[in-house]
Amino acid sequence: MRCPFCSAQDTRVIDSRLANEGDQVRRRRECVACKERFTTYEVTEFNLPRIVKRDGLREPFDENKLRAGILRALEKRPVSSDQIEAAVTRIKKALMASGDREVAALEIGEQVMKELSALDHVAFVRFASVYRSFQDVSEFTDMIADLQSKQNHA
Ligand SMILES: [Zn+2]
Repeated sequence: MRCPFCSAQDTRVIDSRLANEGDQVRRRRECVACKERFTTYEVTEFNLPRIVKRDGLREPFDENKLRAGILRALEKRPVSSDQIEAAVTRIKKALMASGDREVAALEIGEQVMKELSALDHVAFVRFASVYRSFQDVSEFTDMIADLQSKQNHA
């Protein structure tokens, strides 16, 4: 693990603990050269399905992309990093549990919208309006109404 401050290759682990309900190992490291400290997260690599994009192209599932999309939607919103990580983990777990080799990008988008609708309504609308090219406004309104009624009954 290279030091992000001085790029030295020698760093030592000064603390190691489980994070995100045991799905991650959080390591505190110290650079042997410049003594700066930083944190790394280690996750197990599973075989996640490939993503089928709208144009039919396939690409590997990218957790960072998923997280980046969620973070963008939640910019300046009162949602904690722990809540975001938990949402990312739930989406990943659902993908792994499905056992499918390929999954439509649209389906992941739906999962993200479900998570966002539970976390923060503004972020949900933000993401949905960017992510989905709705045929018309009523389709969009229907979906929000649908999600709201599900939330109210939950
Ligand atoms: Zn360093």
